[in-house]
Amino acid sequence: MADKKEKERLSGQAACRKNDVVILEITDMGAEGEGIAKLNGYTLFIKDALTGDRIKACVMKTNKYFGYARILEILEPSPYRVEPRCPVARQCGGCQLQHCSYEKQLAWKEEKVRSCLSRIGGFHNVVMEPILAMDKPYYYRNKAQFPVGVDKGGALIAGFYAGRTHSIIKNTNCIIQHPCNHEIVETVLQFMRDYKIPAYNEKNHTGLVRHILTRVGEDTGEAMVCLVINGTFIPEAGELTSRLLACHLTGKDVGQSLAIKSICLNINREKTNVILGKKVKVLYGNPFIEDKIGDIVYRISPLSFYQVNPEQTKKLYDTVLEYADLQGQEVVWDLYCGIGTISLFLAQKAKKVCGVEIVPQAVRDAEENARRNHFTNVEFFEGAAEEIVPEQYQKSNGSLKADVVTLDPPRKGCDAKLLETVVSMEPERIVYVSCDPATLARDLRYLCDRGYELKRVRACDMFGMGYHVETVCVLGNKNRKPDDYLKVNIDVDKIHDILDQEKAEKEAKEKSQSK
Ligand code: SAH
Repeated sequence: MADKKEKERLSGQAACRKNDVVILEITDMGAEGEGIAKLNGYTLFIKDALTGDRIKACVMKTNKYFGYARILEILEPSPYRVEPRCPVARQCGGCQLQHCSYEKQLAWKEEKVRSCLSRIGGFHNVVMEPILAMDKPYYYRNKAQFPVGVDKGGALIAGFYAGRTHSIIKNTNCIIQHPCNHEIVETVLQFMRDYKIPAYNEKNHTGLVRHILTRVGEDTGEAMVCLVINGTFIPEAGELTSRLLACHLTGKDVGQSLAIKSICLNINREKTNVILGKKVKVLYGNPFIEDKIGDIVYRISPLSFYQVNPEQTKKLYDTVLEYADLQGQEVVWDLYCGIGTISLFLAQKAKKVCGVEIVPQAVRDAEENARRNHFTNVEFFEGAAEEIVPEQYQKSNGSLKADVVTLDPPRKGCDAKLLETVVSMEPERIVYVSCDPATLARDLRYLCDRGYELKRVRACDMFGMGYHVETVCVLGNKNRKPDDYLKVNIDVDKIHDILDQEKAEKEAKEKSQSK
């Protein structure tokens, strides 16, 4: 065993050793946007290097199959190379592709999806529709989380974590965040300096202010400021509120202004990397703000999931709606529904939409969003999709069917148990929205081995300057005859009766145990 390890180490070192200075041609880019070069057949990954660059680099680490190197000098820049707009682009962990032209970012993202579909899913020669590009790939994010800390000299700072670390890169003027953040964050920092309110220190779990969280309703012009604190209250909260309300916050477009509608504290006293605690205290206004996508108003609280790029979200949801191709009579299951954003978008054109979501607060938000927008044809189920859907299918003795199923899972994709049930529900179409092309390709293969075929695929750029890519695709059911279409019926009330009964039984049991 020891021998094998030593062999592996040596074979890595055959091409180069740690601290070697080498000249490299960058020929490709890896999954996280890093440059890839071959040195005598041996693969090296180089952060911030770009296809077409010729660089002088220093080898940092090697193993059997690949190694890492760091740029010392760019000898010949790639034709795709541009000057990053942000002075801390390289240190900050937020953006990975600012040095790459936006056109090349888009082409690379499309290629990433195509290559996963082919390598992992075995879908070769897929013709993708053109990527949904951003009009302006800057200042787009509607949610920011600034860690607060001190610099080497002890001065209070806020910014973003450096890649893969927790050291804070000072920056309150991020070029992918909404421009209002600068004034909000500087106002909070000045308040903390004036009243000697300490930043949280994660090493010894002391201090108070951990993060400054902001959210903006791009369409409504409403803004939220939430301080995540290691405590239960903040001194001089009234003064903080007045200072924040006195801020003159400008929007992205000339003449547009924003109004702070919510100032909150989020209590997080745990020794944890998780940013938000469970409890929210309101200092001013509501515990939420509102935003609109298309014609639908959504309520967003500090804890709810909401897409971060409103311009692209609209394009993404329009594509989902187009792919779902609803005629008005369909029963739709929207799995991983969050606060019901896609569910309500589809409910505009469907007979009935059932959403399933694991986070209880998101389900409450989804129900509230349905109510406020006067939808009566939506129902939400709380729980893991891979548990709720198979359970309901079993209880219905196989009569639970759907015309269209939408899937929008987190990066790890869908559980096979869920996909198996989805296939049994025999939907005419499955629309899959994915934030990870690798797990998407895996899940598509599963579905296509069970009677579905991939019809349309389109990537969407939700994260300009970052390496993530969103994809939407639609699968058609090869076995379902056109006549079967629109004959699906489900008894949602019955399912709710069962769930209510189970809940009542559980509560009664808990009550009798606590006596
Ligand atoms: N469709 C929504 C949310 C997509 S994000 C939108 O566009 O806004 C993925 C969602 O899946 C999150 O809300 C997350 O809480 C939820 N989720 C994660 N694991 C889940 C599971 N096993 N079952 C159901 N929902 C889950």
